[in-house]
Amino acid sequence: PLDKIPTWREDNQSNEKEEGKELTGGGGLTDKVSLYKGDITVLEVDAIVNAANSSLLGGGGVDGCIHKAAGSCLYDECHSLNGCETGKAKITCGYDLPARYVIHTVGPVARGHVGPTETNDLTSCYQNSLRLMKEHGLSTVAFPCISTGIYGFPNEPAAEIALNTVKSWIEENPDKNTRVIFCVFLETDFAIYKKKMAVMFQDN
Ligand code: ADP
Repeated sequence: PLDKIPTWREDNQSNEKEEGKELTGGGGLTDKVSLYKGDITVLEVDAIVNAANSSLLGGGGVDGCIHKAAGSCLYDECHSLNGCETGKAKITCGYDLPARYVIHTVGPVARGHVGPTETNDLTSCYQNSLRLMKEHGLSTVAFPCISTGIYGFPNEPAAEIALNTVKSWIEENPDKNTRVIFCVFLETDFAIYKKKMAVMFQDN
């Protein structure tokens, strides 16, 4: 369950205490984000985000894992959606997943190249997913590292985009219940996110 996943503040509390710093009261940025390493399909959140392809009919990587865990009803609903353009997002039920909904977004096919188009498209994936979450009255969402697998977006700039876009969105859409989980799967991404989050997410 979600209460077993520490927020970024809780993750860092022991360090802060050792350094003798005062913890602020809560409701800040660090209470709204978490870094979690593991399988996104086990997370009991309002929505998990799927790094889908434009057909929305399933594929490899995280997409394959989500379809397998959600069951064939997810495929049937996706089939009715007529695909999805790069940078856009569509929402379905979660079926057999513990997550209530799946937000399917299509990341750019980067193949190692990061130009303005790839950057804008990846930014749009995060923005459109968060917009759908809000429109459906949802508060908790988990993102995988969109485009960084088969689609070949380099990990470091992808993390930078993910973190900056989510941070800006949280600042522009204040809601104490918002919780965004960055669900990394690989040790390399875990290390990148941890380092960047330590700089970007601090409330004091
Ligand atoms: P894309 O086609 O957008 O590149 P991939 O699924 O190939 O998507 O990879 C995106 C990220 O998802 C990669 O970091 C990959 O390691 C990760 N991933 C794969 N399976 C899972 C899973 N079950 N839960 C969370 N992340 C996963």
